[in-house]
Amino acid sequence: ILARGKAVCRQNGLLILSVLSVIVGCLLGFFLRTRHLSPQEISYFQFPGELLMRMLKMLILPLVVSSLMSGLASLDAKTSSRLGILTVAYYLWTTFLAVVVGIIMVSIIHPGGAAQKETTEQSGKPVMSSADALLDLIRNMFPANLVEATFKQYRTKTTPVVKAPKLATEEAPPRRILIYGVQEENGSHVHNFALDLTPPPEIVYKSEPGTSDGMNVLGIVIFSATMGIMLGRMGDSGAPLVSFCQCLNESVMKIVAVAVWYFPFGIVFLIAGKILEMDDPKAVGKKLGFYAITVVCGLVVHGLFILPLLYFFITKKNPIVFIRGVLQALLIALATSSSSATLPITFKCLLENNHIDRRIARFVLPVGATINMDGTALYEAVAAIFIAQVNNYELDFGQIITISITATAASIGAAGIPQAGLVTMVIVLTSVGLPTDDINLIIAVDWALDRFRTMINVLGDALAAGIMAHICRKDFARDTGAEKLLPCET
Ligand code: ASP
Repeated sequence: ILARGKAVCRQNGLLILSVLSVIVGCLLGFFLRTRHLSPQEISYFQFPGELLMRMLKMLILPLVVSSLMSGLASLDAKTSSRLGILTVAYYLWTTFLAVVVGIIMVSIIHPGGAAQKETTEQSGKPVMSSADALLDLIRNMFPANLVEATFKQYRTKTTPVVKAPKLATEEAPPRRILIYGVQEENGSHVHNFALDLTPPPEIVYKSEPGTSDGMNVLGIVIFSATMGIMLGRMGDSGAPLVSFCQCLNESVMKIVAVAVWYFPFGIVFLIAGKILEMDDPKAVGKKLGFYAITVVCGLVVHGLFILPLLYFFITKKNPIVFIRGVLQALLIALATSSSSATLPITFKCLLENNHIDRRIARFVLPVGATINMDGTALYEAVAAIFIAQVNNYELDFGQIITISITATAASIGAAGIPQAGLVTMVIVLTSVGLPTDDINLIIAVDWALDRFRTMINVLGDALAAGIMAHICRKDFARDTGAEKLLPCET
């Protein structure tokens, strides 16, 4: 038994360490909450976790560029277009399925009935319209400056413009405002009156294209995929750049292989640090418990039943074995709340444990981490309907359809970074006239739900790679000559 135990530990050492680190992180976080650390102490404590995030983020750019360019360049035009169309169609279909699951769950559990809205006051601050959000999505697909795209993305900004007050005329007399004040002077109250004859200035809001911090992964994906297709068409003249990208990709994966040994340590501090920062779970649980349960149930149904069943029906292979192969990536997604940051580990798991053709992984994974977010879409639909329920707002069938379409679009537009879904929620809410300020109602639990939905986002991408590898196996068997593997890749 000892010998068998040793062999299991040797084979799955990293995975066991990662599972343990999640458990230790939770225990340590809850224990340290009782010690009431100062914000400064918490920020020092979070440092090892911050390092883990930095390492992962550092690898995203070289990995996305090199994998898409070398992956697509090594396929013939017919294979790459078939793989591209099938992958995008599959992604849209599963995202829409996730939204349907979310809508069914939120309609059955009806979490909005249990949550009391404390205030009906809206801030009055205008938010980005759906049209602006759509334009931003398209702008991000075509970055004007590739270097800038590595650290900035387009995001429309809404700014107030103060219009000069109109001069009073005889037809439109000035507004009269009576100002009354009470002041305390030498122990007695002095009453002041004043008449303000100035009409108040008018404030209008103007939206204009702007930028916000964060990598524009969508733009980089579109550029790299186009370059990859063109390099493939160039034949031998494109070969030097293709082999450069293959080498770059392989060296990034070698860095990942070393860095993963730091990850279990980083996960402990990442998780414990977040638990130290969170609001009182009891108070939050009372108000938002049912909402959180609805989202988690929807994610479980989609991630543990619908997606694995799809995988099983299409490939006739055991989905449990497949999911076990990507377990480490799922744990990293849980710890980091970022599908882009998890990308290097998803690659590693798919290539080493599930033996997916690297040409498929190189295309399906970066595209999936950017546009395929089943968990986010499901959560957006649940959150929008929850907000409607809290406001006693009856949604008709047309509005439910609008929510399902906009939730799908909003998940495509969300970046693979922590809580990006919360930002794109605005698109869903404005599409059916729900108050966007009510996003504040769900913020308290969002950091936790984000971790679970990111796991489903990553699982969706990984299973898609498995399904595409099965569907396109004949094309790839025929296309082996086109992939010129480097000695280090063989
Ligand atoms: N954190 C998610 C991801 O990286 C996006 C979101 O739903 O906020 O996939």
